[in-house]
Amino acid sequence: MLGELECAALERHLERCSSCARTRSEIAAFTLLLRAAPLAERRLPVSVPPRRPARARRVRRAAAGLVLAAALAAGATLFVLPQGAPVASSAALSLATPRQRLEFAAAERDRTEPPTFAPASAPERFLPYAARALA
Ligand SMILES: [Zn+2]
Repeated sequence: MLGELECAALERHLERCSSCARTRSEIAAFTLLLRAAPLAERRLPVSVPPRRPARARRVRRAAAGLVLAAALAAGATLFVLPQGAPVASSAALSLATPRQRLEFAAAERDRTEPPTFAPASAPERFLPYAARALA
């Protein structure tokens, strides 16, 4: 189904394009012939099968049950199980002073990086600058 603008554009095109205008009149004549012809009688009875076989219904019910069970399990996981310790980044944000943040960062670095690539602790003379940068 064409919209109002599309209908207007089509009419404009048909006024200028003889090929499309000829095709339209052929289709219109054919449509009139079809509508004027007597209805054909069917020779064999037509039966429509049920919309969904019983097996498909059972499969759909089982799938719905599985989805419901998964949703319940997810809800139980969220509300029943205890919340774990906060992740390291949010723990760092809750530290009060820049000094504590630096110590936390150093501890995390020592924990996560191999000792060959990380010095045991940051040199003391860099701490004030880093503390200002983190403040
Ligand atoms: Zn045309």
